[in-house]
Amino acid sequence: MSNDTVKIPQATAKRLPLYYRFLKNLHSSGKQRVSSAELSEAVKVDSATIRRDFSYFGALGKKGYGYNVNYLLTFFRKTLDQDELTKVALIGVGNLGTALLHYNFLKNNNTKIAVGFDVEEAKIGTSIGDVPIHHMDELEKIITEMGITVAILTVPAPFAQTITDRLVAANVKGILNFTPARLTVPATTRVHHIDLAVELQSLVYFLKHYGVDEEEE
Ligand code: ATP
Repeated sequence: MSNDTVKIPQATAKRLPLYYRFLKNLHSSGKQRVSSAELSEAVKVDSATIRRDFSYFGALGKKGYGYNVNYLLTFFRKTLDQDELTKVALIGVGNLGTALLHYNFLKNNNTKIAVGFDVEEAKIGTSIGDVPIHHMDELEKIITEMGITVAILTVPAPFAQTITDRLVAANVKGILNFTPARLTVPATTRVHHIDLAVELQSLVYFLKHYGVDEEEE
């Protein structure tokens, strides 16, 4: 994010990609204006929250008129740094890693997995999609050369911390951790943890105990 961007609350920042994706769809369908009620219905965030979120960016909407889609889109693109492609490294080209490589995020925004790493000889030197897979021995050299500061971890949990230490030492600032391991990093590095098994279990638990009506929050 650029330095002149207003500092927005983290909860708001997390919703930005959601708004952005919906606005992009609206834009491509030729719609020029959107009300907070319409946005609310589409992204499943209540309209008061949407209005509060948008208020952090200045008075972008007018009552009874809605928000200008083009303006919002330009604003979000800038705020989310969508004009600039962010290259990401993926460590661990197993089942999940391979799925992420095929998916490769380009439909939603401007981040792209640009390189993969593994230790299994059969995978080294191959490409998945257009992403080359290199040996872990080359990790530091390649990510430094490519200027990569974001990594996705899809290795077996016991290796996660050692690899994280190497990534941190090689100037990686953001790690999306798909392993169940809880990672220790310095304050200058940010880890987002996605434990699919836990998410699935908690969904089943919530369905069983709360049904579908009550919100989790
Ligand atoms: P697969 O069936 O391809 O093994 P998987 O997702 O079930 O997939 P895992 O054991 O979870 O396999 O390992 C994920 C990937 O991480 C594998 O491709 C494996 O070779 C790789 N891997 C294992 N140890 C390391 C390591 N130390 N550094 C990098 N990659 C590793």
